[in-house]
Amino acid sequence: MLKLLFLSTPVGPLGSGLGGGVELTLYNLAEEMQRRGHQVRVVAPTGSVLNNIQIVEIPGNLQIPAQTQSRDVPISLPSDSVLANIWEYAHTVAQEYDLLVNFAFDWLPFYLTRFFTTPIAHFISMGSLSDALDLVMTRVAKAKQGTFGVYTRSQAETFPFADACTILGSAVDLSVYDFCAQPDDYLGWVGRIAPEKGLEDAVAAAVKTGIPLKIWGKIQDQQYWEKINQDYPEGAREYCGFLPTRELQAQLRRCRALLMTPRWVEAFGNVAIEALACGVPVISYARGGPTEIIRHGKTGFLVTPDSVDGLVEAINNLDQIDRISCRQQAETEYSLPALGDRFEKWFNSRISRICGDK
Ligand code: UDP
Repeated sequence: MLKLLFLSTPVGPLGSGLGGGVELTLYNLAEEMQRRGHQVRVVAPTGSVLNNIQIVEIPGNLQIPAQTQSRDVPISLPSDSVLANIWEYAHTVAQEYDLLVNFAFDWLPFYLTRFFTTPIAHFISMGSLSDALDLVMTRVAKAKQGTFGVYTRSQAETFPFADACTILGSAVDLSVYDFCAQPDDYLGWVGRIAPEKGLEDAVAAAVKTGIPLKIWGKIQDQQYWEKINQDYPEGAREYCGFLPTRELQAQLRRCRALLMTPRWVEAFGNVAIEALACGVPVISYARGGPTEIIRHGKTGFLVTPDSVDGLVEAINNLDQIDRISCRQQAETEYSLPALGDRFEKWFNSRISRICGDK
């Protein structure tokens, strides 16, 4: 039995959607580790909610998400930083745990790694975004073998230490997602509403095909969202809010397809496997994680990045996709037990390797 302390992202409370896919990954992993008999405690910003998992809530001001800043921006922390408070707490209790598992993509935990005697495993949920982060991570990667875990190979390759990354993938709790054989006549888009997600292209494609687009997700960038509302007529798109997983899947599963329009190298794209788990084909720009998930022509389509016409063509070819194949792919490749095996192996290697660290 391992004693695991999970340190959450400081960009928002768990359950708020501000953290994006890492919130679901952290939750799924905590559940799966507990199911295996490990002890898991999660440290997260005040207001965090997780069913059946012990949380230590930490007050403080939230961190500015790395993706909203340019690559050369100096590292900064707000006053009374929740990130600093989380790691201060971690320092006081670290001796009681076998492993600390960090989910924050931030400079401070990477820098602090060498000052802890308890081993730390860093799970990275985004591609490279900052020179300062790359530098500190490269140093840690050299000194502490196997300390960085990532979702995908495409994501790892954005970092200078790609070969030192452990590729862990992602998963969903398949029992939560119901298969839907007969969709309604609408398309879906799910994610944080922020420029790196390219929502405007999905709306443009929906307008061209005449099939309405339903949108679910946290509005992270209000100005960006308002611009989309100004540029496109209301009939073409319907905003359905940010929903908890069970409610989200009940609506998502009725889509003809999920559209993914990342402008950045998408680290994974958890929404892709959530759609597949419901039998919903995924049409995505061929950029990052989705290129490793979607089986082109079988469980969706990979489209030339930034090509709205490419999205439209794929939408017109949706009858080539058998929705059962989509659910089957989720079952064979994205189950929680498979994810648990990979993470458990990685955790154990981090714990046994601590003696060999520099
Ligand atoms: N999500 C949600 N409810 C919504 C819309 C989105 O819970 O109404 C979650 C979704 O389940 C997924 C996350 O938001 O886990 C988006 O993660 P993804 O990996 O696709 O992208 P990221 O935000 O990490 O870049």
